[in-house]
Amino acid sequence: MPQIKAAVSHAHGDPLQIETLNLRAPLMGEVEVTLKACAICHSDIHFAEGAWGGKLPAVYGHEAAGHVTAIGEGTRGLTIGDPVVVTLIRACGTCATCGGGMPVLCSAPAAHDGPLTTLDGAPVEQAMNSGAFAEKVVVDQSQIVKLPADMDLVAASLLACGVITGVGAVVNAAGLRAGQDVVVIGAGGVGLNAIQGARIAGARRIIAVDMTDDKLAIARDFGATDGVLATDSKPWRAAKRAMGKGADVVVVTVGAIPAYDTAAQYLAPGGKIIMVGMPHSGATSSYQPVMIAASGQAMIGSKMGDVVIARDIPWLVGLYQQDRLKLDELVSRTWTLDQINDAIADTKSGAAKRNVIVFD
Ligand SMILES: [Zn+2]
Ligand SMILES: [Zn+2]
Repeated sequence: MPQIKAAVSHAHGDPLQIETLNLRAPLMGEVEVTLKACAICHSDIHFAEGAWGGKLPAVYGHEAAGHVTAIGEGTRGLTIGDPVVVTLIRACGTCATCGGGMPVLCSAPAAHDGPLTTLDGAPVEQAMNSGAFAEKVVVDQSQIVKLPADMDLVAASLLACGVITGVGAVVNAAGLRAGQDVVVIGAGGVGLNAIQGARIAGARRIIAVDMTDDKLAIARDFGATDGVLATDSKPWRAAKRAMGKGADVVVVTVGAIPAYDTAAQYLAPGGKIIMVGMPHSGATSSYQPVMIAASGQAMIGSKMGDVVIARDIPWLVGLYQQDRLKLDELVSRTWTLDQINDAIADTKSGAAKRNVIVFD
């Protein structure tokens, strides 16, 4: 059985430990991918800190890219050596949600037990169906998308979560039409991608809302036409002045409850709030139902940008290769797996961009 180096969580809130684990070979419908890159997402940090529970010990990491190095029986269209993106979206393809076009919501149970064990044979949780803070992963073939041979794999890793979540929130969940106005609350890893999704979709005004001028400046690089400081007492006033009206779409990309409590303030009649940021379990937000009802507005939850990976990831790769989607600019720094706790600390410090673990 192959042995791999992985960053393991033994207790929520503790630093990850670099350890050697067993990774079993791919079974029916599974693929082994030797990773080149895995970006660190705030979801990894929330899980590591225990915000959403989950079994321990566990390996987090779910924004990855690498090369196929082993193929289980029953897979189709893959060859050893293919470059691929690895996502957490495992979809059976045959349930009602998959058939209805929403594979991100598939809840069919896994076909097999997880592939990770300690050297003593005790199970280790493959968190988010991926466990990609590790040299290799074994995942269901539905989770991967083949890439062009010349695609940069550090850039490609970002497509697995942050980019599809942000771009998809605007393009898929909101169904933004060209010429509409968008407010994006939070200009972090997901927010910057909602901003560039709005730019790609042809938005008229794109207003970024965040806590610091530095983040608003980065937001402008990604296509925001205006920036508003969330620290203002009523930031929606400046946003509405810039748009000349309320927003057609407000995308909440942060898990902060005040962002949810105030999102409707930015909205035009008939507008939509797209709820992407994920607060801790049990946190609640309040809003005035009468305003939403009387204004014909909508609040829509969006998981992973409602992505259909086989459709959307090749589309995004094409945009990247035409210089219409920024990926390289989303990377703040690359790190080795041994440096993962420092990389996580850097992400927690509020860095807007992605830290990426790169494997040799
Ligand atoms: Zn993520
Ligand atoms: Zn399904």
